[in-house]
Amino acid sequence: MKLPINIDRIKGFLAEDEGAALFDSAIKAANFGPILEIGSYCGKSTVYLGTAAKETGNTVFAVDHHRGSEEHQIGEGYFDESLFDAQRQKVDTFGEFRDTLSQAKLEDTVVPIVAPTKVAAKHWRTPLGLVFIDGGHSMEAALNDYRCWTPHLVTGGYLLIHDIFPDPKDGGRPPFEIFELAKASGQFELITMVNTLGIMRRL
Ligand code: MG
Repeated sequence: MKLPINIDRIKGFLAEDEGAALFDSAIKAANFGPILEIGSYCGKSTVYLGTAAKETGNTVFAVDHHRGSEEHQIGEGYFDESLFDAQRQKVDTFGEFRDTLSQAKLEDTVVPIVAPTKVAAKHWRTPLGLVFIDGGHSMEAALNDYRCWTPHLVTGGYLLIHDIFPDPKDGGRPPFEIFELAKASGQFELITMVNTLGIMRRL
């Protein structure tokens, strides 16, 4: 895997082994259909998925309202002042995300969708080869992401979920809960875990 930019310079919460697993899954998903990512933030994971998509002639749809998750808001644990639009008094990660796409030369491969997940999914009809869920960590957000997008996965397509912490002491539960839901649904088989990234396939 050769990335087009120095990935360490992009803000984000994705470990290197998880990024490599995203890339590998995205290469394999090319035979099944386009890739959809939920929760792009500044584009770190998008670069891994997008680079694989570019190599295989695939497309990444990158869904994010770009207003930050709960933990990114002012006064919260992961607030980043450089991503705060002081004039509008809102978090705005879209500018940074566009810079990442431009620097990585992925503007011909990644389609940004700047909208909440439910709005983006409302009229969605395209079958998907890979869905990567890395959105908000509230139960409502995680469930929405799971319910809105997994029905569009084709048989053999990949479902990837980030931030799975089986022990509640290590992190919030909702990504783990939808991971359990996917396993219990009988619609997915677990391929492997890489760090906090769960990799499944649609049966
Ligand atoms: Mg994450």
